[in-house]
Amino acid sequence: TANSTSSSSGAGEIIENVVIIGSGPAGYTAAIYAARANLKPVVFEGYQMGGVPGGQLMTTTEVENFPGFPDGITGPDLMEKMRKQAERWGAELYPEDVESLNVTTAPFTVQTSERKVKCHSIIYATGATARRLRLPREEEFWSRGISACAICDGASPLFKGQVLAVVGGGDTATEEALYLTKYARHVHLLVRRDQLRASKAMQDRVINNPNITVHYNTETVDVLSNTKGQMSGILLRRLDTGEETELEAKGLFYGIGHSPNSQLLEGQVELDSSGYVLVREGTSNTSVDGVFAAGDVQDHEWRQAVTAAGSGCIAALSAERYLTSNN
Ligand code: FAD
Repeated sequence: TANSTSSSSGAGEIIENVVIIGSGPAGYTAAIYAARANLKPVVFEGYQMGGVPGGQLMTTTEVENFPGFPDGITGPDLMEKMRKQAERWGAELYPEDVESLNVTTAPFTVQTSERKVKCHSIIYATGATARRLRLPREEEFWSRGISACAICDGASPLFKGQVLAVVGGGDTATEEALYLTKYARHVHLLVRRDQLRASKAMQDRVINNPNITVHYNTETVDVLSNTKGQMSGILLRRLDTGEETELEAKGLFYGIGHSPNSQLLEGQVELDSSGYVLVREGTSNTSVDGVFAAGDVQDHEWRQAVTAAGSGCIAALSAERYLTSNN
């Protein structure tokens, strides 16, 4: 393995082997692997979600597609198990936000709300945030009718056999609409513009699908509920005429994109035009040696817990290799 203890610079200051930023499936998986490789990883779990570590899955109920849990597991339970596993192998966990990073000179510097740490390598696993429409009743119906992930929630009893809607006109929204036709009675695609932005192939598949109705020039105004407080429909406004209509639907899926949480690396590491960290294909290697990225912050395509965990594993093994070859 690489050096099992942190090294010391000439001035007696401690330099950690690896700092992991983020506490989603990518960060904790990286922590498990790095800790088992005796690297004594330091993990900054983040504090944005009111001090609750665990990332995006803390905001969901059942996770039915993570291997190893045939009866499903709740998002918070799954993340607590990953956290315990990282802790058991000796990862040092701090519930702190990283506020700034310097990866332009080695050793790297990580500044949190509480401390400044020097390190030889970094695994950046800060995730992504699904963009929201900020509808007036969005909080009330989040996870109770409104979702940002068709793959995660499409097969839920809440939505199966129901009329559903997807908002957005790009590749994400069209993918979601097509995916939902497997479960829904009918899918409405709500598009603000007068055309779709998705690739031609996706447009054709959507337009030719009898189970999808596309509504152009349509703004999603709010969700509606029945007397039992369940979501029952969506209030729409035609942008060309201003006319408001009510659409019957039991679910509304956001397909309006994600924002990767890559701000701390801006100007230091190569990002793509949407802000995702660029990694060399099939690796976790960023444009800076010793800086690795894992999970949703470098993945605009798959965005699943298991793919995030897989890339966290690759990042930790890559960091171990990097430390070994640089010592
Ligand atoms: P995240 O889970 O986003 O975690 C990122 C972490 O980084 C967070 O802990 C955050 O606090 C931390 N962080 C961010 N900035 C900083 C900073 N500056 N300093 C320190 N920490 C920071 N996937 C599935 O496979 N199955 C499902 O059923 C499923 N359901 C979902 C339901 C919902 C409602 C949502 C939103 C997503 C769902 N997903 C599901 C997708 C899945 O949650 C993500 O793909 C996965 O969590 C990505 O993991 P990650 O480790 O990359 O990032």
